[in-house]
Amino acid sequence: MNTAINYINILKKVYQSIEAIESKGETAKYIPELDKVNPNQLGVYFLSNSNIEYGIGDYQTKLSIQSISKVLSLSLAYKLLGERVWERVGVEPSGNPFNSLIQLESDNGIPRNPLINAGALVICDMLVSQLENPKHDFLKFVREVSAYKEINYCESTAKSEESVGFRNKALCNYIKSFGNIENHPDVVLDFYFHMCSIQMTCQELANTFTFLAFSDETSVLNVRQTKRINAIMQTCGFYDESGEFAFKVGLPGKSGVGGGIIALHPEKYCIAVWSPKLNEKGNSYKGMKFLELFTTETELSIF
Ligand code: GLN
Repeated sequence: MNTAINYINILKKVYQSIEAIESKGETAKYIPELDKVNPNQLGVYFLSNSNIEYGIGDYQTKLSIQSISKVLSLSLAYKLLGERVWERVGVEPSGNPFNSLIQLESDNGIPRNPLINAGALVICDMLVSQLENPKHDFLKFVREVSAYKEINYCESTAKSEESVGFRNKALCNYIKSFGNIENHPDVVLDFYFHMCSIQMTCQELANTFTFLAFSDETSVLNVRQTKRINAIMQTCGFYDESGEFAFKVGLPGKSGVGGGIIALHPEKYCIAVWSPKLNEKGNSYKGMKFLELFTTETELSIF
């Protein structure tokens, strides 16, 4: 029955509805470089296992993928270290904002999950220890996974975030005080800020995440590992709005403060949505609304 879904018509219809609503929220002003982006953009790219590919709006404009890259760094760490990853970072939703320090004290420096900043910093530390040339090798991995050879960091965004990154610096130093960061915090943070600064279009983003949507034994991760990464996206991908995303959208996904969201239906499709204005939880206001309407109209979610 699902093969009869006319994805393209639904995408057009949902795009029109979401384009028309008032864009609430604000761009991520705390990173000066992200505040320079035209806030009224809206882009979507969809691709399915039945070879339907469709882009609409600003889907070929580069966006700063920010925390979406945490899924990519986690995937590389998982590939390199296997189950040892979970000795230093948990798999529980935190129920707190992405940059919160609050649980680290009672949890002895073990972040709740790898998709909050604390957890992503620990994953960055693992990669700094594992990779010979972390920034270069991580980019190489992302380029291989995405099949786009020109994907790159944005130096000005990385620098811009570094200049105001007091909270991430506090997080990294605090975790280090518990012994859960091996390398010098400056090195880990430099890698983290660069990782967050990666730029992709919606088209590139959707294509990159096909390794988690359509997995087989030849994929980057094996089927079991893929299932686990998707489970973490489902439960932790939107911070303290993860429950709401599951409730309203019903797909594994990940957001970033650049306003991008990637979501996927395992074995069926990948969809990237981008709109820079964020809601109060730091997730794209229109992006969330788009995906909610999209799964409503397709009558298809993982639930
Ligand atoms: N680079 C951003 C930060 O650390 C990423 C946050 C996000 O996208 N949610 O604040």
